[in-house]
Amino acid sequence: MKKERNMWLDGIMGLAVGDALGVPVEFSLRDWLTEIPVQDMRGYGTYPVPKGTWSDDTSMTWAALDSLREGYAPNLMADKFCEWAFANKYTPWGEIFDIGGTTSRALRKYYYSKNPLTCGEAAEGSNGNGALMRILPVCLYCYSLEKNEKLATEDSIDIVFEATAITHAHLRSKLASALYYFVCCEVLEAYDMKTAVADGLKKGFEFFDKTPEYAEELKNYDRLRDVENFADLPHEQIQSTGYVVHSLEAALWCLLNTNNYADSVLEAVNLGGDTDTIAAIAGGLAGLFYGYDAIPKEWLGVLARCKELEAACTDPTKAEEHSYEYISIMPKRRLRNYTKIKQFLETILEKETDINTKTLINYMLQKNERNYAEYLEMLKDE
Ligand SMILES: [Mg+2]
Repeated sequence: MKKERNMWLDGIMGLAVGDALGVPVEFSLRDWLTEIPVQDMRGYGTYPVPKGTWSDDTSMTWAALDSLREGYAPNLMADKFCEWAFANKYTPWGEIFDIGGTTSRALRKYYYSKNPLTCGEAAEGSNGNGALMRILPVCLYCYSLEKNEKLATEDSIDIVFEATAITHAHLRSKLASALYYFVCCEVLEAYDMKTAVADGLKKGFEFFDKTPEYAEELKNYDRLRDVENFADLPHEQIQSTGYVVHSLEAALWCLLNTNNYADSVLEAVNLGGDTDTIAAIAGGLAGLFYGYDAIPKEWLGVLARCKELEAACTDPTKAEEHSYEYISIMPKRRLRNYTKIKQFLETILEKETDINTKTLINYMLQKNERNYAEYLEMLKDE
Protein backbone atom coordinates (compact mmCIF):
# COMPACT_ATOMS: atom_id res chain seq x y z
CA MET A 1 0.00 0.00 0.00
CA LYS A 2 1.23 3.43 -0.86
CA LYS A 3 0.35 5.06 2.47
CA GLU A 4 -0.05 3.90 6.03
CA ARG A 5 -3.78 4.00 6.37
CA ASN A 6 -6.81 1.79 6.84
CA MET A 7 -7.97 0.78 3.36
CA TRP A 8 -11.08 -0.84 4.84
CA LEU A 9 -12.16 2.49 6.32
CA ASP A 10 -11.19 4.48 3.21
CA GLY A 11 -13.03 2.25 0.78
CA ILE A 12 -16.11 1.25 2.72
CA MET A 13 -16.89 4.71 4.10
CA GLY A 14 -16.30 6.11 0.61
CA LEU A 15 -18.85 3.61 -0.69
CA ALA A 16 -21.41 4.28 2.06
CA VAL A 17 -21.32 8.06 1.66
CA GLY A 18 -21.73 7.76 -2.13
CA ASP A 19 -24.67 5.42 -1.58
CA ALA A 20 -26.35 7.83 0.87
CA LEU A 21 -25.91 10.80 -1.46
CA GLY A 22 -27.65 8.87 -4.23
CA VAL A 23 -30.57 7.35 -2.29
CA PRO A 24 -32.89 10.42 -2.34
CA VAL A 25 -32.63 10.75 -6.13
CA GLU A 26 -32.52 7.11 -7.21
CA PHE A 27 -34.27 6.70 -10.59
CA SER A 28 -34.23 10.47 -11.20
CA LEU A 29 -33.74 11.62 -14.77
CA ARG A 30 -30.47 13.23 -15.71
CA ASP A 31 -32.21 16.29 -17.14
CA TRP A 32 -33.95 16.88 -13.84
CA LEU A 33 -30.70 16.53 -11.92
CA THR A 34 -28.95 18.91 -14.32
CA GLU A 35 -31.42 21.58 -13.23
CA ILE A 36 -31.32 20.75 -9.51
CA PRO A 37 -28.04 18.89 -8.99
CA VAL A 38 -27.28 17.11 -5.74
CA GLN A 39 -24.52 19.01 -3.97
CA ASP A 40 -25.05 17.85 -0.41
CA MET A 41 -26.79 15.17 1.65
CA ARG A 42 -30.54 15.31 1.15
CA GLY A 43 -33.35 13.55 2.95
CA TYR A 44 -36.47 11.80 1.61
CA GLY A 45 -37.14 12.01 -2.14
CA THR A 46 -37.33 8.54 -3.68
CA TYR A 47 -37.79 6.80 -0.30
CA PRO A 48 -39.34 7.99 2.96
CA VAL A 49 -35.97 7.99 4.71
CA PRO A 50 -34.04 10.83 6.38
CA LYS A 51 -30.80 12.47 5.30
CA GLY A 52 -27.75 10.20 5.50
CA THR A 53 -29.64 6.95 4.87
CA TRP A 54 -27.64 4.42 2.91
CA SER A 55 -29.20 1.42 1.16
CA ASP A 56 -28.69 -2.20 0.08
CA ASP A 57 -25.28 -1.42 -1.44
CA THR A 58 -23.82 -0.53 1.96
CA SER A 59 -25.83 -3.18 3.81
CA MET A 60 -24.48 -5.98 1.62
CA THR A 61 -20.97 -4.53 1.70
CA TRP A 62 -21.06 -4.53 5.50
CA ALA A 63 -22.46 -8.06 5.55
CA ALA A 64 -19.74 -9.26 3.15
CA LEU A 65 -17.04 -7.63 5.28
CA ASP A 66 -18.44 -9.24 8.42
CA SER A 67 -18.45 -12.68 6.81
CA LEU A 68 -14.74 -12.34 5.90
CA ARG A 69 -13.80 -12.12 9.57
CA GLU A 70 -14.08 -15.91 9.65
CA GLY A 71 -12.25 -16.23 6.35
CA TYR A 72 -13.63 -16.40 2.84
CA ALA A 73 -16.35 -18.98 2.25
CA PRO A 74 -19.38 -18.45 -0.01
CA ASN A 75 -21.80 -20.01 2.47
CA LEU A 76 -20.62 -17.71 5.29
CA MET A 77 -21.16 -14.74 3.01
CA ALA A 78 -24.58 -15.91 1.82
CA ASP A 79 -25.61 -16.45 5.47
CA LYS A 80 -24.72 -12.83 6.29
CA PHE A 81 -26.65 -11.61 3.25
CA CYS A 82 -29.67 -13.54 4.54
CA GLU A 83 -29.31 -11.91 7.97
CA TRP A 84 -29.72 -8.60 6.16
CA ALA A 85 -32.46 -9.63 3.72
CA PHE A 86 -34.61 -11.62 6.16
CA ALA A 87 -33.70 -10.30 9.62
CA ASN A 88 -32.94 -6.59 8.99
CA LYS A 89 -29.35 -6.80 10.21
CA TYR A 90 -26.95 -4.31 8.55
CA THR A 91 -29.75 -1.82 7.90
CA PRO A 92 -29.54 1.95 8.58
CA TRP A 93 -32.69 2.19 10.72
CA GLY A 94 -33.53 -1.42 11.56
CA GLU A 95 -35.62 -2.05 8.50
CA ILE A 96 -34.76 -3.07 4.97
CA PHE A 97 -36.21 -0.65 2.40
CA ASP A 98 -34.71 -1.74 -0.89
CA ILE A 99 -33.49 -4.99 -2.40
CA GLY A 100 -32.88 -5.90 -6.03
CA GLY A 101 -34.98 -8.59 -7.70
CA THR A 102 -32.06 -10.86 -8.64
CA THR A 103 -30.57 -10.60 -5.16
CA SER A 104 -33.88 -11.27 -3.49
CA ARG A 105 -34.59 -14.40 -5.55
CA ALA A 106 -31.04 -15.73 -5.12
CA LEU A 107 -31.08 -15.29 -1.34
CA ARG A 108 -34.48 -16.93 -1.02
CA LYS A 109 -33.17 -19.85 -3.05
CA TYR A 110 -30.09 -20.02 -0.81
CA TYR A 111 -32.21 -19.83 2.31
CA TYR A 112 -33.90 -23.11 1.37
CA SER A 113 -31.13 -24.89 -0.57
CA LYS A 114 -28.14 -23.77 1.54
CA ASN A 115 -26.04 -24.06 -1.60
CA PRO A 116 -24.20 -20.78 -2.29
CA LEU A 117 -22.76 -22.11 -5.53
CA THR A 118 -26.10 -22.67 -7.27
CA CYS A 119 -28.42 -20.01 -5.86
CA GLY A 120 -27.30 -17.09 -8.05
CA GLU A 121 -29.14 -16.33 -11.26
CA ALA A 122 -27.23 -17.06 -14.47
CA ALA A 123 -29.69 -15.67 -17.03
CA GLU A 124 -28.50 -12.92 -19.34
CA GLY A 125 -31.30 -10.74 -18.04
CA SER A 126 -29.92 -11.06 -14.51
CA ASN A 127 -27.00 -8.73 -15.08
CA GLY A 128 -27.91 -5.90 -12.77
CA ASN A 129 -25.24 -4.22 -10.66
CA GLY A 130 -26.30 -5.99 -7.43
CA ALA A 131 -23.09 -7.96 -7.00
CA LEU A 132 -20.67 -5.33 -8.28
CA MET A 133 -22.02 -2.88 -5.68
CA ARG A 134 -21.00 -5.15 -2.77
CA ILE A 135 -17.79 -6.74 -4.07
CA LEU A 136 -15.38 -4.18 -2.54
CA PRO A 137 -14.62 -6.08 0.71
CA VAL A 138 -13.86 -9.22 -1.31
CA CYS A 139 -11.52 -7.19 -3.52
CA LEU A 140 -9.70 -5.74 -0.52
CA TYR A 141 -9.49 -9.17 1.08
CA CYS A 142 -7.96 -10.77 -2.02
CA TYR A 143 -5.64 -7.79 -2.51
CA SER A 144 -4.32 -8.19 1.01
CA LEU A 145 -3.89 -11.97 0.66
CA GLU A 146 -2.07 -11.56 -2.65
CA LYS A 147 0.20 -9.00 -1.00
CA ASN A 148 1.00 -11.52 1.71
CA GLU A 149 1.67 -14.25 -0.85
CA LYS A 150 -1.26 -16.32 0.30
CA LEU A 151 -3.10 -16.17 -3.01
CA ALA A 152 -2.19 -15.95 -6.67
CA THR A 153 -4.17 -13.65 -8.98
CA GLU A 154 -5.90 -16.69 -10.46
CA ASP A 155 -7.17 -17.62 -6.99
CA SER A 156 -8.35 -14.08 -6.32
CA ILE A 157 -10.35 -14.10 -9.53
CA ASP A 158 -11.87 -17.46 -8.58
CA ILE A 159 -12.97 -15.92 -5.29
CA VAL A 160 -14.28 -12.71 -6.87
CA PHE A 161 -16.21 -14.75 -9.45
CA GLU A 162 -17.63 -17.08 -6.83
CA ALA A 163 -18.62 -14.31 -4.40
CA THR A 164 -20.32 -12.47 -7.26
CA ALA A 165 -22.18 -15.61 -8.30
CA ILE A 166 -23.88 -15.97 -4.90
CA THR A 167 -26.48 -13.63 -6.40
CA HIS A 168 -25.32 -12.83 -9.96
CA ALA A 169 -23.95 -15.93 -11.68
CA HIS A 170 -23.80 -14.75 -15.30
CA LEU A 171 -20.25 -14.37 -16.67
CA ARG A 172 -20.90 -10.70 -17.53
CA SER A 173 -21.51 -9.88 -13.88
CA LYS A 174 -18.49 -11.90 -12.79
CA LEU A 175 -16.27 -10.07 -15.28
CA ALA A 176 -17.55 -6.70 -14.04
CA SER A 177 -16.59 -7.58 -10.46
CA ALA A 178 -13.21 -8.90 -11.59
CA LEU A 179 -12.41 -5.81 -13.68
CA TYR A 180 -13.35 -3.76 -10.61
CA TYR A 181 -10.95 -5.93 -8.63
CA PHE A 182 -8.06 -5.21 -10.98
CA VAL A 183 -8.79 -1.47 -10.84
CA CYS A 184 -9.08 -1.65 -7.05
CA CYS A 185 -5.58 -3.17 -6.74
CA GLU A 186 -4.09 -0.44 -8.91
CA VAL A 187 -5.94 2.33 -7.06
CA LEU A 188 -4.31 1.07 -3.86
CA GLU A 189 -0.86 1.28 -5.42
CA ALA A 190 -0.92 4.22 -7.83
CA TYR A 191 -0.38 7.93 -7.25
CA ASP A 192 -2.69 9.00 -10.03
CA MET A 193 -6.31 7.97 -10.46
CA LYS A 194 -6.28 7.95 -14.27
CA THR A 195 -3.17 5.78 -14.34
CA ALA A 196 -4.71 3.46 -11.77
CA VAL A 197 -7.90 2.97 -13.77
CA ALA A 198 -6.00 2.55 -17.03
CA ASP A 199 -3.47 0.10 -15.59
CA GLY A 200 -6.13 -1.87 -13.71
CA LEU A 201 -8.27 -2.31 -16.80
CA LYS A 202 -5.22 -3.17 -18.92
CA LYS A 203 -4.20 -5.89 -16.46
CA GLY A 204 -7.77 -7.15 -16.30
CA PHE A 205 -8.11 -7.43 -20.07
CA GLU A 206 -4.68 -9.06 -20.38
CA PHE A 207 -5.72 -11.61 -17.79
CA PHE A 208 -9.08 -12.45 -19.38
CA ASP A 209 -7.91 -12.32 -23.00
CA LYS A 210 -5.97 -15.51 -22.25
CA THR A 211 -9.25 -17.41 -21.92
CA PRO A 212 -10.98 -17.75 -25.31
CA GLU A 213 -14.33 -18.61 -23.68
CA TYR A 214 -14.46 -15.10 -22.22
CA ALA A 215 -13.97 -13.33 -25.57
CA GLU A 216 -17.63 -12.99 -26.45
CA GLU A 217 -18.67 -11.63 -23.06
CA LEU A 218 -15.65 -9.35 -22.82
CA LYS A 219 -16.89 -7.50 -25.90
CA ASN A 220 -19.47 -5.87 -23.64
CA TYR A 221 -16.60 -4.04 -21.96
CA ASP A 222 -14.81 -3.01 -25.17
CA ARG A 223 -15.25 0.70 -24.52
CA LEU A 224 -13.02 0.31 -21.46
CA ARG A 225 -10.09 -1.00 -23.50
CA ASP A 226 -9.08 2.48 -24.61
CA VAL A 227 -9.27 4.43 -21.37
CA GLU A 228 -8.10 7.73 -22.83
CA ASN A 229 -10.85 7.71 -25.41
CA PHE A 230 -13.38 6.45 -22.90
CA ALA A 231 -12.58 9.24 -20.42
CA ASP A 232 -13.17 11.83 -23.14
CA LEU A 233 -16.64 10.59 -24.06
CA PRO A 234 -19.30 13.26 -23.56
CA HIS A 235 -21.66 12.47 -20.72
CA GLU A 236 -24.53 11.83 -23.17
CA GLN A 237 -22.67 8.68 -24.15
CA ILE A 238 -22.46 7.40 -20.58
CA GLN A 239 -25.52 5.47 -19.48
CA SER A 240 -26.24 5.31 -15.77
CA THR A 241 -28.70 2.46 -15.52
CA GLY A 242 -28.59 -0.51 -13.15
CA TYR A 243 -27.25 -2.76 -15.94
CA VAL A 244 -23.84 -3.92 -14.71
CA VAL A 245 -21.95 -2.80 -17.83
CA HIS A 246 -23.48 0.68 -17.69
CA SER A 247 -22.88 0.99 -13.96
CA LEU A 248 -19.22 -0.02 -14.15
CA GLU A 249 -18.63 2.31 -17.09
CA ALA A 250 -20.42 5.22 -15.42
CA ALA A 251 -18.54 4.83 -12.13
CA LEU A 252 -15.14 4.63 -13.84
CA TRP A 253 -15.97 7.56 -16.12
CA CYS A 254 -16.73 9.70 -13.06
CA LEU A 255 -13.41 8.75 -11.47
CA LEU A 256 -11.56 9.57 -14.70
CA ASN A 257 -13.17 13.00 -14.97
CA THR A 258 -12.81 14.29 -11.42
CA ASN A 259 -9.91 14.84 -9.06
CA ASN A 260 -11.30 14.62 -5.54
CA TYR A 261 -13.63 12.44 -3.50
CA ALA A 262 -16.63 14.78 -3.33
CA ASP A 263 -16.68 15.52 -7.06
CA SER A 264 -16.33 11.81 -7.93
CA VAL A 265 -19.45 10.81 -6.03
CA LEU A 266 -21.51 13.92 -6.90
CA GLU A 267 -20.70 13.41 -10.58
CA ALA A 268 -21.95 9.83 -10.23
CA VAL A 269 -25.17 10.84 -8.44
CA ASN A 270 -25.95 13.61 -10.92
CA LEU A 271 -25.78 11.22 -13.88
CA GLY A 272 -29.20 10.12 -12.65
CA GLY A 273 -30.69 6.63 -12.96
CA ASP A 274 -29.19 4.15 -10.51
CA THR A 275 -27.64 7.01 -8.54
CA ASP A 276 -26.94 5.32 -5.22
CA THR A 277 -25.27 2.26 -6.67
CA ILE A 278 -23.15 4.08 -9.24
CA ALA A 279 -22.03 6.51 -6.53
CA ALA A 280 -21.31 3.55 -4.24
CA ILE A 281 -19.21 1.81 -6.92
CA ALA A 282 -17.34 5.04 -7.69
CA GLY A 283 -17.23 6.06 -4.01
CA GLY A 284 -15.50 2.86 -2.92
CA LEU A 285 -12.62 3.46 -5.32
CA ALA A 286 -12.58 7.23 -4.68
CA GLY A 287 -12.40 6.52 -0.94
CA LEU A 288 -9.49 4.13 -1.47
CA PHE A 289 -7.62 6.66 -3.55
CA TYR A 290 -8.28 9.98 -1.81
CA GLY A 291 -8.59 8.47 1.68
CA TYR A 292 -11.09 8.69 4.52
CA ASP A 293 -9.91 12.21 5.43
CA ALA A 294 -11.01 13.44 2.00
CA ILE A 295 -14.65 12.52 2.68
CA PRO A 296 -16.47 15.73 3.72
CA LYS A 297 -16.99 15.68 7.50
CA GLU A 298 -20.49 17.13 7.22
CA TRP A 299 -21.51 14.14 5.11
CA LEU A 300 -20.07 11.65 7.57
CA GLY A 301 -21.73 13.67 10.33
CA VAL A 302 -25.24 12.83 9.10
CA LEU A 303 -24.52 9.31 7.83
CA ALA A 304 -26.77 6.69 9.46
CA ARG A 305 -24.91 4.50 12.01
CA CYS A 306 -21.68 6.19 11.00
CA LYS A 307 -19.73 5.33 14.14
CA GLU A 308 -20.79 1.67 14.07
CA LEU A 309 -19.93 1.34 10.43
CA GLU A 310 -16.56 3.01 10.96
CA ALA A 311 -15.83 0.70 13.87
CA ALA A 312 -16.61 -2.27 11.63
CA CYS A 313 -14.04 -1.17 9.04
CA THR A 314 -11.17 -3.27 10.32
CA ASP A 315 -8.96 -5.81 8.59
CA PRO A 316 -10.94 -9.09 8.71
CA THR A 317 -7.77 -11.18 8.47
CA LYS A 318 -6.81 -9.76 11.88
CA ALA A 319 -10.06 -10.90 13.50
CA GLU A 320 -9.76 -13.50 16.24
CA GLU A 321 -12.04 -15.96 14.46
CA HIS A 322 -10.31 -15.58 11.09
CA SER A 323 -9.23 -18.75 9.33
CA TYR A 324 -7.57 -19.24 5.95
CA GLU A 325 -8.94 -22.77 5.87
CA TYR A 326 -12.27 -21.58 4.54
CA ILE A 327 -10.70 -20.57 1.26
CA SER A 328 -10.13 -24.22 0.48
CA ILE A 329 -13.86 -24.88 0.40
CA MET A 330 -13.60 -25.13 -3.37
CA PRO A 331 -11.87 -28.39 -4.27
CA LYS A 332 -9.79 -26.89 -7.06
CA ARG A 333 -8.37 -24.17 -4.87
CA ARG A 334 -5.72 -24.66 -2.27
CA LEU A 335 -4.06 -22.12 -0.13
CA ARG A 336 -0.59 -21.60 -1.48
CA ASN A 337 1.99 -20.17 0.80
CA TYR A 338 4.66 -19.20 -1.67
CA THR A 339 7.18 -18.13 0.91
CA LYS A 340 7.11 -21.61 2.43
CA ILE A 341 7.31 -23.24 -0.99
CA LYS A 342 10.28 -21.08 -1.89
CA GLN A 343 12.04 -21.99 1.36
CA PHE A 344 11.28 -25.65 0.70
CA LEU A 345 12.78 -25.48 -2.79
CA GLU A 346 15.87 -23.77 -1.44
CA THR A 347 16.32 -26.56 1.12
CA ILE A 348 16.15 -29.19 -1.62
CA LEU A 349 18.63 -27.21 -3.66
CA GLU A 350 21.18 -27.29 -0.85
CA LYS A 351 21.08 -31.10 -0.60
CA GLU A 352 20.65 -31.84 -4.30
CA THR A 353 23.67 -33.20 -6.14
CA ASP A 354 22.19 -33.96 -9.55
CA ILE A 355 23.09 -31.08 -11.81
CA ASN A 356 19.96 -31.36 -13.97
CA THR A 357 17.64 -31.21 -10.95
CA LYS A 358 19.64 -28.30 -9.57
CA THR A 359 19.25 -26.41 -12.84
CA LEU A 360 15.55 -27.09 -12.86
CA ILE A 361 15.09 -25.90 -9.26
CA ASN A 362 17.11 -22.77 -9.96
CA TYR A 363 14.94 -22.16 -12.96
CA MET A 364 11.79 -22.62 -10.90
CA LEU A 365 13.08 -20.21 -8.27
CA GLN A 366 13.55 -17.54 -10.88
CA LYS A 367 10.05 -18.02 -12.27
CA ASN A 368 6.98 -16.56 -10.67
CA GLU A 369 5.50 -17.95 -7.50
CA ARG A 370 2.75 -19.90 -9.15
CA ASN A 371 5.35 -22.13 -10.74
CA TYR A 372 6.73 -23.10 -7.35
CA ALA A 373 3.35 -24.55 -6.56
CA GLU A 374 3.28 -26.41 -9.85
CA TYR A 375 6.76 -27.72 -9.23
CA LEU A 376 5.73 -28.96 -5.81
CA GLU A 377 2.89 -30.85 -7.47
CA MET A 378 5.43 -32.42 -9.82
CA LEU A 379 7.61 -33.50 -6.89
CA LYS A 380 4.60 -35.07 -5.22
CA ASP A 381 3.79 -37.06 -8.35
CA GLU A 382 7.26 -38.52 -8.60
MG1 LIG B 1 -29.31 0.88 -3.26
